[in-house]
Amino acid sequence: MSFMQKIKNGLQKLMVGRRGPDELTLALLIAGLVLSMVGSAIGFGLLNLAGMAAYVLAIFRMFSRNLQKRYAENAKFTGMWRSLTASVRQFINRTKNMKKYKYFKCPECHSRLKLPRKVGEVTVTCGKCHHAFKQKA
Ligand SMILES: [Zn+2]
Repeated sequence: MSFMQKIKNGLQKLMVGRRGPDELTLALLIAGLVLSMVGSAIGFGLLNLAGMAAYVLAIFRMFSRNLQKRYAENAKFTGMWRSLTASVRQFINRTKNMKKYKYFKCPECHSRLKLPRKVGEVTVTCGKCHHAFKQKA
């Protein structure tokens, strides 16, 4: 058995029953790297410490055998991340199309609606709650 084979087998034995890196662990590693770099750049030791804490947490998560808890944490993180990126994407889209559409919210259910600009005042029916109201665009 070659040296690399031995290392590979050793790592496989070590990771049995453990989750390894997931999205939250990768995010922690990236956050740790960014915090450490910014902390070093501005000479603020507390940020370095926070970066180290993120690394330690990431390593703890990778080697933890409490798979259910780690899975739940990761699911919560990915859900929050998905909704954050969706919000940012929608904001960018709205900003990009601001000249073409007027954006507003339904007065009843507050869902976001849009109308092409320069249609004047029209009666809008919300697609979600079917509330009808007048809106200028
Ligand atoms: Zn509505």
